[in-house]
Amino acid sequence: MSIRTQYLTLLHDLVALPSVSAKHESLPETAKLIADALRGLGAEVLYDDTYFAPFIIGKLTSNVPQAPTVIIYNHYDVQPAEPLDLWDSDPWQLTEKDGKLYGRGVDDDKGNLTARLTAVAEYLSEHNNQLPINITFIIEGSEETSSQHLDDYLAKYQQHLSGDLVIWESGGKNANEEVEIFGGNKGIVTFDVSATTAGHDLHSSLAAVVDSAAWRLTQALATLYDENGHITVAGFYDDVTPPNSREIQLVSALPLTHDALVAQHEITAPLITDKTGDDLKSILYFSPTLNIEGIESGYVGEGVKTVLPAKASAKLEARLVPGMDPEKTLLQIKQHFQNRGFSDILVTKTLGQPGYRSDMSDPQILRVIDVTAHYYKAQPVVIPTSPGTGPMYYIHEALGAPIASLGIGYANTNDHAPNENIRLDDYNQHIDVIKALIRSYEK
Ligand SMILES: [Zn+2]
Repeated sequence: MSIRTQYLTLLHDLVALPSVSAKHESLPETAKLIADALRGLGAEVLYDDTYFAPFIIGKLTSNVPQAPTVIIYNHYDVQPAEPLDLWDSDPWQLTEKDGKLYGRGVDDDKGNLTARLTAVAEYLSEHNNQLPINITFIIEGSEETSSQHLDDYLAKYQQHLSGDLVIWESGGKNANEEVEIFGGNKGIVTFDVSATTAGHDLHSSLAAVVDSAAWRLTQALATLYDENGHITVAGFYDDVTPPNSREIQLVSALPLTHDALVAQHEITAPLITDKTGDDLKSILYFSPTLNIEGIESGYVGEGVKTVLPAKASAKLEARLVPGMDPEKTLLQIKQHFQNRGFSDILVTKTLGQPGYRSDMSDPQILRVIDVTAHYYKAQPVVIPTSPGTGPMYYIHEALGAPIASLGIGYANTNDHAPNENIRLDDYNQHIDVIKALIRSYEK
């Protein structure tokens, strides 16, 4: 059996385990399979299941003195497969069709992991079992539930975790088939906001003299933005790390336009940036956000109910850029409600993590860009930060190395959604790129 086939079999076995962290299912079984695969590669394996999900470190050591260390970060947990009726194949059965592989986690993130294991295994077999660099795999099982306890594990194994470059879990090609490399992501703080205006729901005739909780809450929320689309929370933007000139240049080179964004998502509301006149791309990548995720109050069933609801609640999130602290941001928001006369509004934190951007001029990042450009015979699209969130900050804090995110995905990979899939060509290309990256360190 070829090495590629051997690790595709591993991918098949991994997809068959429904390692949904949200349901705390199959996590140790999946982690053990991966630990065994790492041992099979000849790695020294540290396996720890102290917290929510087992954490695995696999270390391959070069015989070259003072060799640099590349750290490869992946996760083995996946999103739930529901709604099951929207899948064309069994989500827990790796299914090949028309050059594509289908299954939950095939891109996010089990396929990226097996592609990298394949690359290292092939390199070792072609080079007499020697590597020009140390390679450390870090594999967690709670990424899809905000990487709980990842920071605890990283602190515990600090002495094993120094490196020169981190290869992040995933990435891929955009809708124009260009390869993308990301160097950061935004942070986040999520929180619940609620208003209670009476001991119980009231007859709505009392609306002549008392506001419902729905009004109270929406009035409070409405004060968070001004008419120019700026967040009005005092101090909210104070700690924002502004983008440097390379970051500005990289983002302004991205193909995104106002019209394309509107068309892609069929957006019918005016964009916030229309009001400010600021550059759309720069705002999308370098500005924090404040969003209402959901809102609930009163009667919304069939027909009419003339009621004055006593309770209203909403879920909110702020996406944070580097420099911003989740706790401090939340305090500023609480203070804002106090200052605007809404001291009765209750704010409760749910999750938080800071954002991170790599130095995209770091020689190790430039190496990844070079290797990728050389392999594909085209410059990759280099993006200093994803507008989304992930645990890069903690990995960077623990490892002190710049992070490059690339992988096996493409525009229709459907991460987190039904019919998650990858194209076998992209998968094989990523194996080749990781091998080329290892080869680039040969003296
Ligand atoms: Zn992922």
